[in-house]
Amino acid sequence: MHEHKSFFIGGEWVAPAGTGVIDVVSPHTEEVIGRVPDGSEADIDAAVAAARRAFDEGPWPRMTPAERAEIVGRLSAIYAANVEPMAQLVTAEMGSPALFSMFAQAAIPQMVLQYYVDLAATYTWEDERQGMQGPVSVVREPVGVVAAIVPWNVPQFTLMLKLAPALIAGCTIVAKPSPETPLDTYLLAEWIKEAGIPDGVVNIVPAGREVGAHLVAHPDVDKVSFTGSTGAGRSIAAVCGQQLKRVTLELGGKSAAIILEDADLASTIEGFKLASLMNNGQACAAQTRILAPRSRYDEVADALAAMVGGLAVGDPADFGTEVGPLVAQRQQERVEGYIRIGQDEGAKVLVGGLDRPQDRGWYVAPTVFGGVTNDMRIAREEIFGPVLALLAYDDEEEAIRIANDSDYGLGGSVWTADEEHGVAVARRIRTGSCGVNLYSIDPATPFGGYKSSGLGRELGPEGLDAYLELKSIPRPAPKV
Ligand code: NAD
Repeated sequence: MHEHKSFFIGGEWVAPAGTGVIDVVSPHTEEVIGRVPDGSEADIDAAVAAARRAFDEGPWPRMTPAERAEIVGRLSAIYAANVEPMAQLVTAEMGSPALFSMFAQAAIPQMVLQYYVDLAATYTWEDERQGMQGPVSVVREPVGVVAAIVPWNVPQFTLMLKLAPALIAGCTIVAKPSPETPLDTYLLAEWIKEAGIPDGVVNIVPAGREVGAHLVAHPDVDKVSFTGSTGAGRSIAAVCGQQLKRVTLELGGKSAAIILEDADLASTIEGFKLASLMNNGQACAAQTRILAPRSRYDEVADALAAMVGGLAVGDPADFGTEVGPLVAQRQQERVEGYIRIGQDEGAKVLVGGLDRPQDRGWYVAPTVFGGVTNDMRIAREEIFGPVLALLAYDDEEEAIRIANDSDYGLGGSVWTADEEHGVAVARRIRTGSCGVNLYSIDPATPFGGYKSSGLGRELGPEGLDAYLELKSIPRPAPKV
């Protein structure tokens, strides 16, 4: 049992203002495995005050990027030595399969941290320009106090996309993890303290959405960086718009994987294990619409159903498990609801369906729907579970049109024997990323969404730009 009784605020472990608690429940056993205090508005106020003080009066924003990078580098080293316990904790909280967890819930967040530590040395922090009227210094300054609000599906990854560049930029941070996954942030807080990041630079208060809304609207917060659902993103954007607060939004997706006529089917279907079903299908960028040429539809349907039907479903702590439970009972019910919707819409269950693979735990059978058309709700709405929709297309133009016929624009992929042609098709997909013969998110390159999938980009140098304000300092032209 992981029990915590305080919040990490101002570099101290501070007692909560209220008495509410959050029980963290194992999605596999349905038993309580952890308990933390439930943050209230007063706790958020204390965290924002600590972050404000650390920004306005503390050393962090005034250090050089190299000085900050040295300290954040210590955090990165501690993280690198503890990838395994972090991965195990996230798996215990939300059911990510152990193998995936080692990689995506812990190793990749550490890589992101290290990427920004290294970037500090090569990034253009300021430059001298010969303006049209005289010399101008263009300097980049930290944006201020950042509210980082993250979901439960990849809690460390989504947090690190914000924390790492914000720290290197010289910002101070109030992080609000999801109530489903607060435990991993307590481990991180210990490492932050051990690394010697100054007091008040990082503050962490687990809480629900109303308290999250209080954080967003707080007048002492300069920037909001949010990952979560499109619905919540819209209301956060409205508040930030009203207050003219800087905002980055990483929201939902309904990404398409286009199988071209010449694709090697065996490697393509194998690729979908990660691209489409990673993290038990609870991934914003999962390629959940599979587009197959009509000429190869039956062949694809058979291979896809065989692969999905053969996945090892079970205890996420087991390294052999490929699909674990969903995060919560409400998520299980939501995904089963979509399976019913698909059946009612006339799509055909090729494998999976409503029979639960286990009696205990929030499991849903990995499911493939065939005969899907792009107007069906199962093709348009984010299900956030191991449910794939297989659609047929007649020619490449139609495939591109179907892929782009979505309110979302986050990810995508093209599967083909001709990589160059695959890149040409990927260029025509209106999403923030589109892989060829794989789907991956590289820490060195921007990640984010077109359309209702978000605003702005994380990762790469662009992810650091998002935590900096630009200031021009012009001077008179030298007299001749
Ligand atoms: P959610 O929007 O319900 O919650 C996300 C976080 O925001 C939680 O911490 C929640 O407490 C908080 N929150 C919710 N409403 C808020 C509000 N109005 N003001 C302030 N805080 C608020 O999402 P979820 O169900 O936890 O996560 C799943 C969603 O996240 C999916 O839609 C998924 O696509 C998306 N997601 C996107 C990315 C990406 O990079 N684009 C990555 C992971 C997850």
